[in-house]
This record gives sequence, structure tokens and C-alpha cells, in this order.
Amino acid sequence: MQTIEELERQRSHLYQDLAQSGDLRRGGVGVTYRRCGRANCACADPDHPGHGPRHRLTRSVDGKTESKQLHPGPELEKVTREVANHRRFVTLSQQIVEVNEQICEARPGAGSADRRRFRSPQPPHRPPKSCLSISGRVLPR
Ligand SMILES: [Zn+2]
Repeated sequence: MQTIEELERQRSHLYQDLAQSGDLRRGGVGVTYRRCGRANCACADPDHPGHGPRHRLTRSVDGKTESKQLHPGPELEKVTREVANHRRFVTLSQQIVEVNEQICEARPGAGSADRRRFRSPQPPHRPPKSCLSISGRVLPR
């Protein structure tokens, strides 16, 4: 099992990485090819891929899907980088929460036994797998 010092070091590295996330935005960049529907156009040929590629940024906000076309070149490159930064940010955030939970459990005086006694009479709302591994002291990596 990792010591608190090791976990804290891991956590501060993650925070440093997080601080270097750069510009980030939600969503994903998708590529579409499209047939214009004109019978005499090259794209009417079944072997033709269709007009494109067209790149769109699509994101879901409050249940609504928004989409905007991206111009190839600098705009596409910029937005692709920004959504990749967001994915990395989300992954790092999850890792930070996980290492924090390990620190919480490892910190003396956490009273995990008390909490288990307190929780046990209640029916679990959703049995979280992560809690099992934490209380079982099975630490990843
Ligand atoms: Zn066409």
C-alpha cells in the first residue's frame, strides 16, 4: 500500500498537470461526407465518398446538441486541440478525485470503521464498486 506521502506527491503532480491544461472546450470533432443529391454530380456514383470531408464541432449542453462547422486548417486544428485538452482535463480530474479518496482513507483519524458502522444499517443506494476497493484497501497501481 502507498504511504500518504506517496499519495500526496501523486496528487500534487496531478494538480500541476491540471494547471497546464490550456484552452479547453467540451465536445467532439466529427467528420462527415455528404451527397448533394444532384443526379449528374460525381457524388451520385455509389463509389464516390460524397462531398467532404466536413468537420463539425458537436457538443451536448443541457440535453441540447449544438453543432458548428469548422474550417479546415488553423480553426480545425485549434478546436481539435481544445477538445483533446478537455478530455485530458476530465481524465486528470477523475484521477485527482481517486487519489484524494485514497488519501482520505489512508489519513489517520479518518474513522473509516465508524463510518462503516454508521452506514451499514442503511440500504445502499447504488453499491459503488470504488467503495469496495477502497474499504478493501486494494489500491490501483
Ligand atoms: Zn454532389
